[in-house]
Amino acid sequence: MTEIVRRHVAALAPDALPAYVYDLAALRAHAAAVRAALPARVELYYAAKANPEAPLLAALRDAVDGYEVSSGGELAHVRAAVPDAPLAFGGPGKTPAEIAAAVDAGVHRWHIESEQELHRLDAVLADRPGTVVDVLLRVNLPVATGALDAVALAMGGRPTPFGLDPDRAEECVRQLTGEGPGTGPGTGPLGRQLRLRGVHAHLASGLAAAEQLAVAEQIVAWSAALAERHGFPLAEVNVGGGMAVDYEDPANHFDWTAFGEGLAKLLDAHPGLTLRIEPGRALTAHCGWYATEVLDVKQSHGEDFAVVRGGTHHLRTPATRGHSQPFEVLPVDTWPHPWPRPAVATGRATLAGQLCTPKDVLARAASDADGLRAADRVLFAMAGAYAWNISHHEFLMHPRPGFHYLGG
Ligand SMILES: *Cc1c(COP(=O)(O)O)cnc(C)c1O
Repeated sequence: MTEIVRRHVAALAPDALPAYVYDLAALRAHAAAVRAALPARVELYYAAKANPEAPLLAALRDAVDGYEVSSGGELAHVRAAVPDAPLAFGGPGKTPAEIAAAVDAGVHRWHIESEQELHRLDAVLADRPGTVVDVLLRVNLPVATGALDAVALAMGGRPTPFGLDPDRAEECVRQLTGEGPGTGPGTGPLGRQLRLRGVHAHLASGLAAAEQLAVAEQIVAWSAALAERHGFPLAEVNVGGGMAVDYEDPANHFDWTAFGEGLAKLLDAHPGLTLRIEPGRALTAHCGWYATEVLDVKQSHGEDFAVVRGGTHHLRTPATRGHSQPFEVLPVDTWPHPWPRPAVATGRATLAGQLCTPKDVLARAASDADGLRAADRVLFAMAGAYAWNISHHEFLMHPRPGFHYLGG
């Protein structure tokens, strides 16, 4: 944990816990380092679904070129939080009302998920003569990672509700640019108000830099061949997010330097192309902590359990992913009660929350809990992405956590 977070949590009253505590100064420094590692022709967008809290969106503003939103709700929220920022609108199942709202909001890039979506967007634009929007076709491409490893992992190219199959993307290109010699942007039946800028692909999550590069190279190669076949200028390729974070080893960060160097080489081979990436978790996961206190410690059939204030209704990440959330202990040395202070005695403990379900486990049989006592504080790390906003807050009606934004 950072020093500012440690001091803040140490000073909170027990009833102010649990609390989400964010270090916005650390977030700004991290995002600036990510930006600095990327070549100029790579645009950095933040995938808002990882954590859309307004102070985080604002703290990222200097380092990012824009934000990727995936619903009408995110669109309105992000627009209000960072009014001047370019937005890319993706996600399956965009409703007619969301499409109209996004057109009127002047969305910067559309990630087209299906052929019908292209028609729906065109129909909305037909009521707005003179309005032209920029689209990327989201493609579900089969690619292989591990170009540098013996074992290649295939991804994309599998049945999903996301994006277009490659042959359907070809058909969309025809609809947008027309067919045959002398055709080009603006000449297809759907090309009057829809301007094809290139391709989007987000195929996996949790890839290290070498794997991400292998995927990016294949997406760009496929996109360049598509543009060549159809004779349209390939202006942009968005190679998605999914840069890995490591919940087993929080200090193991995605290698942005190697990734940036690889993207620079890729761009050298494609003059005039702009690349875009849209990471979520790799930008914000490390800047947030879920801080709480140990309410009780007890042995059950030979194993220690520490029960903390709060639980997976606030921090669902470990239950969803099936991992132990990494944590640090902030010892509290005063014990004001006349009865004995319960403590972990077996060298390890399972950290459970207050919910009446055996699934409410934040960390299982953790040796970092050795010696943990009632009233000690625990700070769960890597709680800055896919944490509060993916959790089932209403289950059992416990109070909501506090939210603290430090270093703003
Ligand atoms: C979720 C998502 C992202 C971000 O993924 P991370 O794993 O958080 O980096 C980016 N693009 C799209 C289309 C997504 O659905």
